[in-house]
Amino acid sequence: MERTKFTLDEEEIPRYWYNIQADLPEPLPPVLHPATGKPVTPDDLAPLFPMELIKQEVSTERWIEIPEEVRDIYQLWRPTTLFRAHRLEKALDTPAKIFYKYEGVSPPGSHKPNTAVAQAYYNKQEGVNRITTETGAGQWGSALSFGGACFGIEIKVYMVRISYDQKPYRRVMMETWGAKCVPSPSEDTKVGRDMLAKDPDCPGSLGLAISEAVEDCVSRDDTHYSLGSVLNHVLLHQTVNGLEAKKLMEKADAYPDIIVGCIGGGSNFAGLFLPFVKDKIDGTKPDLRIINVEPASCPTVTKGPYAYDFGDEAGLTPLIKMFTLGHGFIPPPIHAGGLRYHGMAPIICHLNRLGLVEARAEHQLDTFKAGVTFARTEGIISAPETNHCIKVAIDEALKCRESGESKTILIAHSGHGHVDMAAYDAYFSGKLQDYAYPDEKIEEALAELPKVG
Ligand SMILES: *Cc1c(COP(=O)(O)O)cnc(C)c1O
Repeated sequence: MERTKFTLDEEEIPRYWYNIQADLPEPLPPVLHPATGKPVTPDDLAPLFPMELIKQEVSTERWIEIPEEVRDIYQLWRPTTLFRAHRLEKALDTPAKIFYKYEGVSPPGSHKPNTAVAQAYYNKQEGVNRITTETGAGQWGSALSFGGACFGIEIKVYMVRISYDQKPYRRVMMETWGAKCVPSPSEDTKVGRDMLAKDPDCPGSLGLAISEAVEDCVSRDDTHYSLGSVLNHVLLHQTVNGLEAKKLMEKADAYPDIIVGCIGGGSNFAGLFLPFVKDKIDGTKPDLRIINVEPASCPTVTKGPYAYDFGDEAGLTPLIKMFTLGHGFIPPPIHAGGLRYHGMAPIICHLNRLGLVEARAEHQLDTFKAGVTFARTEGIISAPETNHCIKVAIDEALKCRESGESKTILIAHSGHGHVDMAAYDAYFSGKLQDYAYPDEKIEEALAELPKVG
């Protein structure tokens, strides 16, 4: 019998996160202050984040120690398992070897608590007892709510309206962990009230929910803000997964030819691939392909320009150099709520520009079809976000069937879809549709890009 599961002992949970900034061939472009156009200083960010996270954001130290308290909580679900997808391979009749590293076993059901717990910890260390945040599909909100529960921190979540209506159970999860969740746009902030006055039926966007969470944070002294993706320190915390994956691939006596993952803000996939991209940078694995998969309806990396933009709708955040669809872009209401963001992690954008990673966009219906194939072979019902990279993994495996090559494909499996069954229901009843790339809408939003330098 060939092995299906590859696992590590609890003592083998990594003791350090891997910081790609130590190994980048060229440094990241600076993050700019929106008023001065100058690089932001730690003091500029201090109202939002604890100093330890601000330091991590710009650190070029290769290894950053994971605090013991954080590792203790990681033990609740880490290390996570690497699976060999024998049954999927068989169904596809492919000589490819497909592996997936499964993050759906965490309490909230995705990779997100890898950073939520760390961020809650550093806030607690600095004496902060209230944190605001935004959430798209509700996964980040539930992860931070869980992190807040671990350290006794009050969490206030602004949840994108469309998901708040589509996914009520995510809100109940947040409440079960003790957090407060309101739909965004909300009446609780000026940004929210202004938007409701303009458009009472506004479905919301991640950018707008970020504006509300930031406004709430900076209008009080006792509150910090937390972001679940995009930023360097978030990707850093997620590398705990990639470091495990590297050890596990060794145990499986394999090394990936292709790594695929879905990208919303880029954190889960970067967390998996960053320890591998290092091998590409130092020349040991020049042929490794790393494919970032995004929705065709929100094609940030495949269609957006590389430019300085705000991280939020209202323009309250610093300016970040990234691929962007414009901070005013409101993506169509696809069910992969976690992938509906106008921007992308600067680290992923930078690696893309350097030719170290590539990107692809997929339509919603194809991704659900792939997700159903995966569920009927491997058993796991995946998050709609994850289905995007499963689609590409299947495509690559089918190419191997054509060519007869036996490539090794590693999927970053970011989470389960148990709270997304309404989306599967819509798919089965023929109510899901594809959304074409809304060119005019994106052009409108791009016209408002901030002018820099
Ligand atoms: C949030 C989420 C994503 C997208 O966010 P990234 O920061 O790009 O990882 C993908 N998959 C799942 C299951 C998620 O919850």
